Amino acid sequence: MKIKVLGCSGSEFPGRNPSSFLLDGKILFDAGSLTKVLNIKDQLKIENIFITHAHLDHVIGIPFLLDNITVGNIWHKVNIISIPAVVRAIKKNILNNSIWPDFTVIPDTHNGIVSFIELKVGQTIKVNDCTVTPYAVNHSVPAAGYLLEDEGGKRFFYTGDTGPTGATWQKLGNKEIHCLIIEVSFPNRMEEIAIKAGHLTPKLLKRELSKIKYLPKRIYITHLKPQYYKTVKIELQKLHIKNLRLLRDGEMIRI
Ligand SMILES: [Zn+2]
Ligand SMILES: [Zn+2]
Repeated sequence: MKIKVLGCSGSEFPGRNPSSFLLDGKILFDAGSLTKVLNIKDQLKIENIFITHAHLDHVIGIPFLLDNITVGNIWHKVNIISIPAVVRAIKKNILNNSIWPDFTVIPDTHNGIVSFIELKVGQTIKVNDCTVTPYAVNHSVPAAGYLLEDEGGKRFFYTGDTGPTGATWQKLGNKEIHCLIIEVSFPNRMEEIAIKAGHLTPKLLKRELSKIKYLPKRIYITHLKPQYYKTVKIELQKLHIKNLRLLRDGEMIRI
């Protein structure tokens, strides 16, 4: 498994791209940075897009990808996959013929370039040679993290945006996670805001990790708010957690 980090920032700043992780060139987790980062050839290799939640920093690449496919007069179809509440929010608020065209009926009603697939929490879907399962997390809007398992039994879990959540780790149970991508958005002094908004601080992260039965072999941190990057980086270093490190835009993770 190869995961290319297209963006791992909690907002958009020059040189900092919002959440997007591309697995083996074909499966995208979140679409915060897509058309700004990938050339058109690589955009057209994407077949399935898993969305954690409908916040703009996780979906903003979808409209531009669909526009690029249509304007390029290329036949290419993508699936947008998420829990029902997220699918509803994207259809109702973005691809609604007001903010952006409804590409489920373009070029024609029977053959749209995009399809939505609803997955219930805990329901597994097979894509390429992997299985993907959504797990409920704790955010200010309905949100899911995704567990991906390849044929060789290697597991990758991406939380998306989440605050403290005992239930998610409990559901993961005894499963050994080889690679965890987990968010930390705010510094320790902003714990109250973090909890209210459904995010983590370094201190809260430490508490979350203590709830996981088997500490993942590799822990990557994503979604730092650029304004607090330096402070959070120092606070993360002070945790002295083995195998934990901050992600960088553009890097490749091999599992
Ligand atoms: Zn969010
Ligand atoms: Zn976010």
